[in-house]
Amino acid sequence: MTHTPHVIDIRDLHKSFGAIEVLKGVDLAAPRGQVVSLIGSSGSGKSTLLRCANLLEDSQRGEILFEGEAVRWTGEGHGRRPADRRQVTRIRTNLSMVFQQFNLWAHMTILQNVMEAPVTVLRRDRAEVEECARAYLDKVGIGNKCDAYPAELSGGQQQRAAIARALCMEPRALLFDEPTSALDPELEQEVIRVIKALAEEGRTMILVTHDMAMARDCSSHVVFLHQGRIEEEGPPARLFGQPETDRLRAFLSATA
Ligand code: ADP
Ligand code: MG
Repeated sequence: MTHTPHVIDIRDLHKSFGAIEVLKGVDLAAPRGQVVSLIGSSGSGKSTLLRCANLLEDSQRGEILFEGEAVRWTGEGHGRRPADRRQVTRIRTNLSMVFQQFNLWAHMTILQNVMEAPVTVLRRDRAEVEECARAYLDKVGIGNKCDAYPAELSGGQQQRAAIARALCMEPRALLFDEPTSALDPELEQEVIRVIKALAEEGRTMILVTHDMAMARDCSSHVVFLHQGRIEEEGPPARLFGQPETDRLRAFLSATA
């Protein structure tokens, strides 16, 4: 039987800012076609873990594998860095991030925003990218906003543009960091609908969210992080239905 490697596989990851250790030996896998949600209190290390996964942050110990290929390091501890810039670029362009603050370029139209990275970073053919960008903007329901500027869109529309931009990179996985937390509740739903549709079509995703309903509805596996350690994890029905640890019970009753 052949073994398909996980898109992302993180093993025993340790990350400190100065003397403060914020990830204390974390394992996290993103199996192909599945959605893993990361939940936990503010400051528990969720964003840091996501940023370590796509090598936006260095880490001091542990392994990160992308489709079975281990990141190669040079140096140790606080001196540890990825050894191969080309490997970093390849991994990072294959793991598209969607942030809380959509980070769209204000001086570019929505279409230009979505086309920018595939054209300049991946050096793909402009006409081909445009076709792809229009299709993804249609898919997230804002195909009619191609020529608008970000400031002319609602927050929910801007976040859907950011999702189209991430998709247009044709990544192996999407990483979401609190994609709905800057949005009003009624705009949140339109973004959740898009993420749910992506989950249903089998996109590989890691989803950091404060929204327990979204974690329950969208994910195949939920990881609860507490002070830089995984306190509990499992399928959403079990985790939300029968939390086993006092910490998760306390967290869930505080977010309810
Ligand atoms: P979460 O996303 O779960 O709210 P973060 O990953 O943002 O948590 O933060 C985890 C811990 O790391 C927090 O204590 C935070 O203050 C600290 N931290 C995050 N980024 C930095 C940084 N660039 N420098 C120093 N400390 C940081
Ligand atoms: Mg965060």
